[in-house]
Amino acid sequence: GLVYLNGEWLVPEQAKVSVFDRGFLFADGIYEVIPVYHGRPFLAQYHLDRLHRSLAAIAIPDQPDAFWQSLVVELIDRNEMQNGLIYFQVTRGAESKRSHLPQGPVTPTIFASISPLELHWDTPEPAKVVLCEDIRWLRCDIKSISLLGNIMLKQYAQQQAAIEPMLHRDGSVTEGASSNYFAVKDGVIFTAPRDNLILPGITRMWVLELAQQLKLPVREEAFHISELAQLDELFLTSSSREVQPIGQIDDIIIGNGRCGPLTQKLIEAFHESKRAHLA
Ligand code: PMP
Repeated sequence: GLVYLNGEWLVPEQAKVSVFDRGFLFADGIYEVIPVYHGRPFLAQYHLDRLHRSLAAIAIPDQPDAFWQSLVVELIDRNEMQNGLIYFQVTRGAESKRSHLPQGPVTPTIFASISPLELHWDTPEPAKVVLCEDIRWLRCDIKSISLLGNIMLKQYAQQQAAIEPMLHRDGSVTEGASSNYFAVKDGVIFTAPRDNLILPGITRMWVLELAQQLKLPVREEAFHISELAQLDELFLTSSSREVQPIGQIDDIIIGNGRCGPLTQKLIEAFHESKRAHLA
């Protein structure tokens, strides 16, 4: 496949970045991931808006919507991609020496690629997650390429045969290492509020929208780890996993360990919205 780097289309082996790039030296950059279904980006404008917010938050110069939109189209066309995940990364750029503060105006490094994604229409098997203290920084709303905390937490989850960590701060569940959580209790859907402690997932936003259309009661309030054993249903969301039912947290079985009815409804609504997008 072809990747985009600073105005050029290259085979991946030819795409090279300076060792003085601030992304390499400091993780001084942000990224964005956009799903592509049937050769068209899904919820693209929401992803581009989040990309703009991430860049603005760390004061890296941005590009107009039209630039990102045509990159999306070219990535899909040049790679003849039907279903895939687009990856955008922007770093502050390269300088002649390592210095925490940029020495002058820097030209951002823009990298874009696309990888194939299997489209699924089934209901995934409920998966296991593990509870972890959220050890990350306090600006999780920025989609930073600095992902050390997320990686350490994911490694721990993998050691416990879990698909994701469930992160909490002082007992309040924030999100996953690359996903957002939703809990169901007595017919009400709970998810952590949109603040600096979570990445505002586009799938999270879309599921909230679908829940509203289905007239399912939703509260954007964090649920507490002391309530986990009493939850009726649990699921997580992300662009690559869509809506994933969770049947177990550590040794706690959620509901009867199967996909709950509200989760099932939202999975079907999500698939339906994908079908509408393909049409
Ligand atoms: N939270 C974090 C920390 C993430 O990294 C991601 C995925 N990048 C998400 C949530 C889910 O976001 P989205 O639904 O936009 O994929």
